Amino acid sequence: MSEVPKVGIAVIGGSANMNAKFPEDFPSVEVLTKDVVYDTPFGASAPFTHAKINGREFLSVPFHGITNYIKNTEPNSAGERVFYVLWKAGVKKILGTALCGSSSRLLDPADAVIPDGFVDYTTKRCQAFYRALESKGVEVERTSYRLHQAFCPELSKSLYMNVKKAGFPRVFQRGVVGVAEGPHLESPDEVRIRYTNAGIDVVTMNLVPEIYFAREIGACYACVEVVSNYGEGCVSTTWEGKMAFSDFQAMWARPTGQALLDTVAETDPESDECGCMTYRWKSIFG
Ligand SMILES: [Zn+2]
Repeated sequence: MSEVPKVGIAVIGGSANMNAKFPEDFPSVEVLTKDVVYDTPFGASAPFTHAKINGREFLSVPFHGITNYIKNTEPNSAGERVFYVLWKAGVKKILGTALCGSSSRLLDPADAVIPDGFVDYTTKRCQAFYRALESKGVEVERTSYRLHQAFCPELSKSLYMNVKKAGFPRVFQRGVVGVAEGPHLESPDEVRIRYTNAGIDVVTMNLVPEIYFAREIGACYACVEVVSNYGEGCVSTTWEGKMAFSDFQAMWARPTGQALLDTVAETDPESDECGCMTYRWKSIFG
């Protein structure tokens, strides 16, 4: 099995940059290794690409590390496997992306949101990376953390500028994400009662456990949520699956990928000026 390289930055891909041959088919990207599966205590990882842009090395994994064989629910989930690799790599900055549905009536498909808040409605996701590691006999320092500034303000600012540059019609520099368990989309009543009425702007399925595990391993996290459909019952019911997913990806996966890469290119993995890491500490339960 391959050894995980020491790399400071990671891109956790999602449906928003899927099928765009990310990152190898983008300008100025130098691929160092492609489609490498790493051994983890949770099973083999999804294939990672190790690449470089503007002198910045990064690891990239598609679709949150979910494959035909790897689920997003515990045990041995995509999140546990991906973060074992990122932890071993020493990653300090993580960029994520996902398609989402709107639950705010102000949003339209192709709007992009750089979130500054989230509410976790999932029920089957791993909640603590250190517990997952300990269940496999891996020794790890237990950390506790606050979720103040869960989204890194510095990374988010850089991502916002680059998503704007990539050509999205409207980009919002704040917004609250509701994380649904899925895999089904939401009913109209769920969208209205659980999300819209609660002040949630967009609904997605894969921000969790990434945002928790990032802080646990000591990495900043930011993401771009791209609206691909109206939430059920929200504004219009005329959309179809092909329009919201495959046709949508054909238009927006490349701009999403370019924005992620432009952000990697200007990210200093060693910078801690954002202060995110002051919100985690060694657990007293250790
Ligand atoms: Zn930060």
